[in-house]
Amino acid sequence: MTKDRNKQETAVIHDGYESADMLGSLTPPLFQTSTFTFETAEQGEQRFAGEEDGYMYSRLGNPTVTVLEEKMAGLEKGERGLAFASGMAAVSAILVALTKANDHILCSSGLYGCTFGLLSMMNEKYNISHDFSTMETKDDVRSLIKPETACVYVETPINPTMKLIDLKMVAEVAHEFDIPVVVDNTFASPYLQRPLELGCDVVLHSATKYIGGHGDVIAGVAVGKKDFLDKVQMTTQKDMGGVMSPFDAWLLIRGLKTLPIRVDRHCDNAEKIDEKLRSHPNVTRVLYPDDTEHPDYHIREKQMRRGGGLISFEIKGTKKDAQRLLNNLHFIKIAVSLGDAETLIQHPATMTHSVVPEPSRTDMGITDQLIRLSVGLEAWEDIWDDLKQALDQL
Ligand SMILES: *Cc1c(COP(=O)(O)O)cnc(C)c1O
Repeated sequence: MTKDRNKQETAVIHDGYESADMLGSLTPPLFQTSTFTFETAEQGEQRFAGEEDGYMYSRLGNPTVTVLEEKMAGLEKGERGLAFASGMAAVSAILVALTKANDHILCSSGLYGCTFGLLSMMNEKYNISHDFSTMETKDDVRSLIKPETACVYVETPINPTMKLIDLKMVAEVAHEFDIPVVVDNTFASPYLQRPLELGCDVVLHSATKYIGGHGDVIAGVAVGKKDFLDKVQMTTQKDMGGVMSPFDAWLLIRGLKTLPIRVDRHCDNAEKIDEKLRSHPNVTRVLYPDDTEHPDYHIREKQMRRGGGLISFEIKGTKKDAQRLLNNLHFIKIAVSLGDAETLIQHPATMTHSVVPEPSRTDMGITDQLIRLSVGLEAWEDIWDDLKQALDQL
C-alpha cells in the first residue's frame, strides 16, 4: 500500500486514510465525540483490557486524531505518531516521560522560551538539572554528558539566531552512552529535515506552525518508536491530559495536504528576501541557513533540503529603530508565531525572548537590533516592497 506513496507530496494527501472505510468520504470525517459506545459489557471489558482494538474515550484515542498521527509518522519516517493539545503539551509529555527526579538533560543552547521555562520548573521541583551546549563538535556534547543524563534535547534551526546543529553527529555521541535524542523539528518541518533518518530517537513539532500552516490552530505532535510513544500515550499523555481535539486534527489534516508546496514557496520567497536584505544599507547582518555566507551552511547542505521560511536580520540603530521598522510596515503583520500564509515579523528581545535575562540574551546573539521574519506566501516582490519602504525610513 505504502510503496507507491513514498514521495511526501503524495503521502501528505493519502497516508493514514482509506475512503472506502468511511462510506467513500473523500476527506476524513470529523469524529467530534467524547466517548464511544460498546455493544456489550464484555466488549467494554475487552477494550479496556487491550484484548480488542477499538476506541473507548477520546482522551485515549480518536479516529480523526489517528489519521493525523499516521500521516505524521509517515512524513517523519517513524513507527508511530502521537498528537497533543499544543507543542508544549508534546514537549512536556515527552520530557516528563523520559526523566525522573535528580536526572539531567543536555540541551542545545537556544531553546523555545516555554521549553526553557519548563526545564527551569523541572529543576526547581524535581532537581532535574540541565546544561546548554553549542554542540559544534563531538567533544562539546560528550564533555557535558553525566551518569544521570536522561536525554539530549535539540532544536535546529535555533530560534531566532538560525544556528544549525549536526543531528547525525549529536545522535552518534548520545548513542555511545545509550541516551535518546529528542529533536524539536518545528522550524524545519518534515519536508525539509527528518531527524529520525539522521539517527535521532524522538521528533516533535509545534503543529501550530508549518504543519497547520494557516494560523488557526494550537497543536503538537511527536513521532518515534511505537513502544516508547505507546508508553507516553498511556502515561504522561493520558494522565496529564494534553490531547489534541478532533477538530484540530481535522484542520491539520487539511493543512498538511499542502505542506510540500507551501514550504517550497516559503523557501522560494525567503531566498529572495535574504538576497535583498543583504544589499540594503540599513541592514548589518542577515541570518538565513541557505545562504552560503551562513556559518552553518555546510550543515544545511547535509541535513536540510532547503533553508526554510525564517530569516533573522540586524538593522543599524537602536531598539527604538527596530520598533519603528515594525510600526512602519503596511501589510506585514507584527506577531509572534511562524509558518503561516501571512508574513509575520517580531522583535525577539522584547517579545519571544523578553523573559531571557539580558546577559544570556546577548550571549545567545539576541541583540536589540535583531528582527525575526517568518516569510509568508505572498508575492515576494510585495513582501520586499513593504520591508524596503520601512527600512528606507530608518
Ligand atoms: C511555537 C513553538 C513551540 C510551542 O508550541 P505551541 O504549539 O505554541 O505550544 C515549541 N517549539 C518551537 C520551536 C516553537 O516554535
